[in-house]
Amino acid sequence: MNCCRGPSTMLPLLKEIKKVCKGPIAALPVPFRTTSEEPTMEVLTDPDTGMPAFPVDLPRFFCSRTQIAEFAAQAKEIGVQYIGLCCGNASHYTRLLAEEYGRKPPASKYAPDMSKHYRFGNKEFVKKHHTPGQQD
Ligand SMILES: [Zn+2]
Repeated sequence: MNCCRGPSTMLPLLKEIKKVCKGPIAALPVPFRTTSEEPTMEVLTDPDTGMPAFPVDLPRFFCSRTQIAEFAAQAKEIGVQYIGLCCGNASHYTRLLAEEYGRKPPASKYAPDMSKHYRFGNKEFVKKHHTPGQQD
């Protein structure tokens, strides 16, 4: 399966495909929050304007990184061998897919590292790099 449907509206079809398909399965949804009422990106409606969001007003429908990682985990569990994302994909999403499938691409070094966050990070790291006199 490729394009049009987001992860949540492609996953149920992947489960059905797995039941009857004996060969490899590929899944490349769009990274948008499609729903059972609006199952493809082309029919998503902007709730503020009531107008079609496709093609230029889709950004408000982007999946979170957590949703993309959950899609990859479920696709892997279903038995999808080839995974990716179609229109709207971004490198941080592809990294998540690869990592969920057990890969460690070079881009993994750019994954968020909360230990370096000024507020939520490792206290020693923050103390070493904190400029005295600044708030938080
Ligand atoms: Zn596409």
